[in-house]
Amino acid sequence: MEKATPHVLIFPLPLLGHISPVLQLAEVLSLRGIRVTVLTTDHVKRRLGSDDENRPMGRKRFSLLSIPDGLPADHPRSAGQFLEVLRSLMVNSRHAYRDVLVSSCKISKTPPVTCAIVDGLMPFAAEVAEEEEIPFIVFRTSGPCSFWAYFSVPKLIEAGELPFPEECDMDELVRSVPGMETFLRRRDLPTICRVRDANDAHLQALSSSTQRTTRARGLIFNSIEQLDAALLTHINSCCPRTYTIGPIGELLRSLDCSVGSPPEWWREDRSYAAWLDAQPSKSVVYVSFGSLTVLRRSQILEFWHGLVSSGYRFIWAVRPDLLDGAGDVAAELKAWTEEKGCVVEWVNQTAVLAHPSVGAFLTHSGWNSTLEGICAGVPMICWPFFFDQMVNSRFVSEVWRIGLDMKDTCDRGTVAKMVKQAMEGESAEEMRRNVGRLSEMARQSVDEGGSSRVHLEQLVHDIRALSLEASALKVGKSV
Ligand code: UDP
Repeated sequence: MEKATPHVLIFPLPLLGHISPVLQLAEVLSLRGIRVTVLTTDHVKRRLGSDDENRPMGRKRFSLLSIPDGLPADHPRSAGQFLEVLRSLMVNSRHAYRDVLVSSCKISKTPPVTCAIVDGLMPFAAEVAEEEEIPFIVFRTSGPCSFWAYFSVPKLIEAGELPFPEECDMDELVRSVPGMETFLRRRDLPTICRVRDANDAHLQALSSSTQRTTRARGLIFNSIEQLDAALLTHINSCCPRTYTIGPIGELLRSLDCSVGSPPEWWREDRSYAAWLDAQPSKSVVYVSFGSLTVLRRSQILEFWHGLVSSGYRFIWAVRPDLLDGAGDVAAELKAWTEEKGCVVEWVNQTAVLAHPSVGAFLTHSGWNSTLEGICAGVPMICWPFFFDQMVNSRFVSEVWRIGLDMKDTCDRGTVAKMVKQAMEGESAEEMRRNVGRLSEMARQSVDEGGSSRVHLEQLVHDIRALSLEASALKVGKSV
């Protein structure tokens, strides 16, 4: 039988938190000898600054193709409108995706796709792969903890725990997420669970796309086996082929120490580096709410007052679309902040977190940011905004004990109190020790023989086996 060349197609949601780990995964698989094509939208491709299809962002190991997202060219696609972008993609991109899946070999003169890696939140990609009889593996870019909470939604509904009763106590524990019975409160479930109707379309869509994972040939997590060992036992009972290959950024660096910087989603003014260099060790709070959070002016003011009255210096990444509404809030903050800190548009977050002057991370608890905080060994103050972030922040504070959870409030008094708790005293010391241990565990997991390396080798082996299977199926069909 003719030996098929393994060729993987990966199509992440057009959101930075999905694109970044996918680009890293593409690099990692390419380094292990698998041919990879990443598919994205025309808009994202332009934003990544890639004008050469085979050299995205200076990298050269995988191909990058793009398709339209169905929105007009002048649509701003700002953070506050991301659901509109996703809706348009789901409705309009199915055919274009199918074309690339089935005939990318003609477009980019590559071998046929033998395996699709589909974004866990993009159900149509899995459906199309199934229809075309191309084996698919799910990549869930959020963590195992939120995956399991989403997976348990039918159980929560069946047990009458969802929807929440009217006027309920949000601090009461929920009992129907196996393994989380002793610490997960109503308020820690993904925000989509706060709906009034169990048949809510969004709740049902997220729940069913998570359930669909059981039909995949495998499930990839950007996480570390030891970090989520107990939960993974539960997950493996439903999805037996699970690959924990994270932190993928660190895995990539362990395979190729010459990798470039992460995508520059907004303009990075590197002058902040000199400011950081001038600060004493562990004296600065790094503040960032990721790439999608939008804040009201009143919330921004509460954070700012809280940070200033904590007495600690801070560096705050204020994206141009952070403010929910019009106005240049970054310019205002810059003017008030001169003395106490540094306001910038965008930073290289992994570099800032690794800087010796940074002592704590005020974060929205996005999964990538949570992993990056762990890798850098920096305690976190969590203000989750939506979706999986609610679960992540509970794990940070109650399971891993590496931070504090400010969920559902951001009044200046609480901000100041939590910043102090994360920066000084016994609680800060304890969190620092705990996160230091996890950071070491993350480093070991990507070293030769570490769990993420072992899972990667298994994944590569299985992708090769699927490719043989795909070519056997093709031969079977043609006789
Ligand atoms: N990020 C960055 N610079 C910034 C702010 C964020 O590089 O100024 C990166 C951060 O390192 C992370 C990603 O943006 O990799 C955000 O992903 P996450 O999953 O934390 O949150 P999301 O943006 O999806 O809400």
